[in-house]
Amino acid sequence: MFIYENNTLFCEGVAIDKIAEKEKTPLYIYSEKALIENFNSLDNAFADVPHVICYSVKCNSNISILKLLARAGAGFDIVSGGELFRVIQAGGDPGKVVYAGVGKTQDEIVYALKSDIHLFTVESVGELDRINDLANRMGKKARIAIRVNPDVDPKTHTYISTGKKENKFGLDIETAREIYKHASGLPSVKPVGIQMHIGSQITQTQPFKNALDKLIPLIGQLRSDGIELEYVDIGGGLGIVYKDEKPMTAQEFADVVVPMVKPLGLTLIIEPGRFIAGNAGILVTKVEYIKKSGEKTFVIVDAAMNDLMRPALYSAYHNILPVKRQNDRPTKPVDIVGPVCESGDFFAQDRVIALPAQDDLLAVMSAGAYGFTMTSNYNCRVRPPEILVNGTSYSQIRRRETWEDLVRQEVSLKESMS
Ligand SMILES: *Cc1c(COP(=O)(O)O)cnc(C)c1O
Repeated sequence: MFIYENNTLFCEGVAIDKIAEKEKTPLYIYSEKALIENFNSLDNAFADVPHVICYSVKCNSNISILKLLARAGAGFDIVSGGELFRVIQAGGDPGKVVYAGVGKTQDEIVYALKSDIHLFTVESVGELDRINDLANRMGKKARIAIRVNPDVDPKTHTYISTGKKENKFGLDIETAREIYKHASGLPSVKPVGIQMHIGSQITQTQPFKNALDKLIPLIGQLRSDGIELEYVDIGGGLGIVYKDEKPMTAQEFADVVVPMVKPLGLTLIIEPGRFIAGNAGILVTKVEYIKKSGEKTFVIVDAAMNDLMRPALYSAYHNILPVKRQNDRPTKPVDIVGPVCESGDFFAQDRVIALPAQDDLLAVMSAGAYGFTMTSNYNCRVRPPEILVNGTSYSQIRRRETWEDLVRQEVSLKESMS
């Protein structure tokens, strides 16, 4: 949905430079069509089994985006009370919410119980007992799934691997079986599912196959223990193209998962985030200065690590494109950096690009997931606005913050009376 027409980058039917002129930079731009197409491609690929696609809210939690996906039929995967609040604000159905996370607080559990979410993905026995106690006091029965850590290597960045035994997430297979037995004896929880989520930006089907090879026998053992489940939740983690990856398609993913899951007779839940939003968004930034120092050329832009953290956090690669392609520009290796006072504040290092000029616009591609949601106000920088394009029109779905916003929650010390 981001393509050049006459050397100008467009999002669907709208020229990026036209949006930037009006809304200023830095700014996020998302394509509605891309979000919906990505969602539908998964939905269609799994048509052969009963399934719910629970979009992972943490990757892009703007309420307009949640609303779009809710309309398309999505459920939601959340990891905090704040994310549940957003889903409800967006008109999403709490009855299609699955709630993961190793550190759910009492208040968050109570809020989720009150909201009648679909199920809690339980990550420890302490959490299970707490959910049981709170549900009991509220006269409710909490539906739960135990998160199993299948100890497989998802072949991704160590920071986004979650299904190896050294990761803090879930419980090993043996412990999980014991905890299901424990759960089935508790009055106010009902084990209805089993869950795994092995990592993010996974490009191959094999890690999912390996994990399911471990998960499926457990479902059989639970049956023989008298525990009949209704849901198998295989998490998210589908990878996308940032550079030259060859990720599995939705269909290739389904072709591996469906034959394994279908005989179980359970409803499948998947929790994709990045796959839906990642390539549906870009961060647009303006060049402030070109600076030469020694051997190096720095392209200093008006976006920074506080606007898009992934390069600093994971050394992530983002393709960077000129919003206006100009053929007379020499190509050379440059560092594209922001104004924040950290050496980690870069979008690219030694990247060979057509050398931009002051005031040129650049598009940092594949920024729709884990982009805006990881922003901060570091260096007292305001968060950028978010724009949603639909065909030939667009709407602002979040305003740019102001300096007043930066101090809004602060309480100034009173003058002393001495
Ligand atoms: C983050 C997360 C997801 C989504 O991961 P993606 O790689 O964005 O698909 C799904 N499930 C859980 C439990 C998560 O924490």
